[in-house]
Amino acid sequence: MSSRKQVFWANVWQRVKVAVISISIMQSVAIASPSSARADAEGSATISYTELLANVKENRVQKIDLESNGLSAEAVLKDGRKVRVDLIARDGNTELMKSLRENKVDIAVKAPQQTTLVWQLVSAFLMPMLLIFVLLMVLRRLSNAPGGPGQTLSFGKTKARFSPEAKTGIMFEDVAGIDTAKEELQEVVTFLKQPDRFTAVGAKIPKGVLLIGPPGTGKTLLAKAIAGEAGVPFFSLSGSEFVEMFVGVGASRVRDLFQKAKDNAPCIIFIDEIDAVGRQRGSGIGGGNDEREQTLNQMLTEMDGFQGNSGVIVVAATNRPDVLDSALLRPGRFDRQITVDYPDYKGRQEIIKVHARNKKLEENVSIEAIARLTPGFAGADLANLLNEAAILAARRYKEAIGELEIADAIDRVTIGLSMKPMLDSSKKRLVAYHEVGHALVMTLLKNASLLDKITIVPRSGGIGGFAKGVPDEEFGLESRSQILDTITMMLGGRAAEEVVFGDGEITTGASGDFQQVAKLARMMVTQFGMSDLGLGALESETGEVFLGRNFMPQSDYSVKLGDRIDRQIRQIAQACYDTAKRLIEENRDLCDRLVDILLDVETLDGEEFRKIVAEYTKLPEKRAAFVKF
Ligand code: ADP
Ligand code: MG
Ligand code: ZN
Repeated sequence: MSSRKQVFWANVWQRVKVAVISISIMQSVAIASPSSARADAEGSATISYTELLANVKENRVQKIDLESNGLSAEAVLKDGRKVRVDLIARDGNTELMKSLRENKVDIAVKAPQQTTLVWQLVSAFLMPMLLIFVLLMVLRRLSNAPGGPGQTLSFGKTKARFSPEAKTGIMFEDVAGIDTAKEELQEVVTFLKQPDRFTAVGAKIPKGVLLIGPPGTGKTLLAKAIAGEAGVPFFSLSGSEFVEMFVGVGASRVRDLFQKAKDNAPCIIFIDEIDAVGRQRGSGIGGGNDEREQTLNQMLTEMDGFQGNSGVIVVAATNRPDVLDSALLRPGRFDRQITVDYPDYKGRQEIIKVHARNKKLEENVSIEAIARLTPGFAGADLANLLNEAAILAARRYKEAIGELEIADAIDRVTIGLSMKPMLDSSKKRLVAYHEVGHALVMTLLKNASLLDKITIVPRSGGIGGFAKGVPDEEFGLESRSQILDTITMMLGGRAAEEVVFGDGEITTGASGDFQQVAKLARMMVTQFGMSDLGLGALESETGEVFLGRNFMPQSDYSVKLGDRIDRQIRQIAQACYDTAKRLIEENRDLCDRLVDILLDVETLDGEEFRKIVAEYTKLPEKRAAFVKF
C-alpha cells in the first residue's frame, strides 16, 4: 500500500472515530433527556410504587391519572403536590387498584405521554439514520479532499472537475516559439468558431487532435489557448485520472464526460497524458490491464459515435506517442497529430519575451544572450528560469533582474543551488585541479565547446564545482571529431587528478563524467557508425516495459559482437583519456597557475580563463561565437 493511501485511511479512521464518539454521546443525551425534561416541565417529582401505595392507603391521594398502557401514573396528592409513578404492568397493579377503590380515589385514564413515543422513535430509527448520514458526509468530504483518492466513493458520477472552464484566459499570444503547431491549431479554432464554413462544402471537422512533444513544451498551454481563442468551454482531465478508479468506472466516466461535452458543444475536451489510458492494448508485464482497456475502448467508441459535426473536438497530449495504441491514431480519431518540439533559438527568444512581460529586466539584459545560453530548454524551463532570476533579484534587494541574476539562475536550474564556498583544504585543491583539467582540455581542443565558466563553489547534490561550456547552438549534426573532443574534455578532470596527485589519489569525483563518456562512446559505436565496427545501427533506443513495450530487451546483435562493441568503447575512451593526460602534462605549469588563481577567486569566466591560457600557449580557433554575458 502506498504511504499516501495509508495516510488516507488513517485519516478516514480518525474522522469516523470522532464521528462515532460524538454520535453516541448525542444519543445518550437524547435518550436520557425525556424523563428529566418531563419532571422539570410539570414540576412533578417521581416517587416509587411503594410510596404511592402507602400514600393511597393513608388516604393522602386525591386523584390519579393512569396511563392506558398501565406503565405509569400521575397522582395529585391532597396537599396539592403532583407526583409520577412507574407502575408494575405485569400484575395489572391489582394491589394499587384495590387500595384506590377502597379509598375512593378519583381514577382517570389517559393516553400515554406522547413525548415518550416520539423519543422512542427518535432513538430507535432516526438516530441510526443520522449516524449513517453523518458518516456518509464525512466519507464524502474525505473523498473530495485533496490527497484523497478522487471520487472512488461516488462511483463514477461526473464531478466538478468535469465542469468546463468557460474561459481559459489563455490566448495564442501567450504561447510563443512553437509557431508551426500554432498555425495548425489555428485551423481548429476556425472549425470551432465557424463550423458552417466547413460543413457547407462537405468537409468533416476533425474529431481529435493529438499534441505530441516533450514535457514542458507547452502542450497543455496550447490546448487552453485553442479554447481561449475560440471562446468555447474547456473540459480537462488527465489520463491517469481514468486509471486510478475502480474497475469499470473508467468507462462510465468517459461516457459521462462525452455526454456532458455534447450538451455544451461547441467545446474542447482535453485529455492530458493520454498515454496513461491510450497505451497499446494487451501489452506490458503480464498482458494488458483490463480496466485501462475498457476505458480506452469506451473512448474509441465515443469518438466514433460523434456525428460528423457535433462541435466537440478532443485534444489530447502525450510525450510518448510511440506507446499509444494504433487504434487511437487511425483516421477518424486523433487524425491530426501535431508535434510540439523544444523551441529553437528564435523560439526561445519569443518565450522569454512572453514571460518577461510581467517582470522587470535591467536594460542591458539581452534576451538574445539568454536564448543562446539555453538550448534544450523547454518553455516551462524558461519560465522557471526567469522566475528564479526574479527571486534572486528580490533576494538581493534589486529593483530589476540583472545579467548576474540570469547567469546565476541558469546555473541554478541546470546544475543546482550554490552552497557556501569550501574552506581551504586539500579537497578544495583537488576539486580545483579536476575542474581546471576539464576547462583546460576544453580550451585547448579545437572541436570542444567554448568555456563559459569555471567555479569551485560547491553546488547542492554533492557537486564540488564545475566547468561548463557555452552550449552549442542547436542540437544538430555533430562530427566525429566534435564527439571525440567532447569525450576528451569530460575525461580531463580525472586526467588532471592523476597527473598531479598520482594514481593513488584519484577520486570518485569523476564518476559522473565516466557515465556520460560511456554513453557517448556507446552511441558512437552502436548508433552513429563511427567506429571500426563499421556502418549501421546496432542498437535502437529501447522502450520501457512499463510504458507498454515488449518485456524482453531487444538485442540486435550476438554475444560476440557485443564483446567487440565493448572493446571499441573502451578503445575510444582510452584514446581520449591519453590525449587529455598528454595535454595536462604538457601544460603542467599553466595548470598550477590556473589552480592558484581559481583557489583565490573561486570563479572565472571563460574570457578570463582564456586570457591566462593565452599567456602560455596559442589558443585554437573555436566554432561557437562567444557570448558576453
Ligand atoms: P506540457 O503540457 O507540454 O508539459 P505546459 O503547457 O504545462 O507543458 O507548460 C508549462 C508552463 O510552461 C506553461 O504554463 C507556461 O508558463 C510555460 N510554457 C511552456 N511552453 C511555453 C510556450 N511555448 N510559450 C510560453 N510559455 C510556455
Ligand atoms: Mg501538460
Ligand atoms: Zn568532472
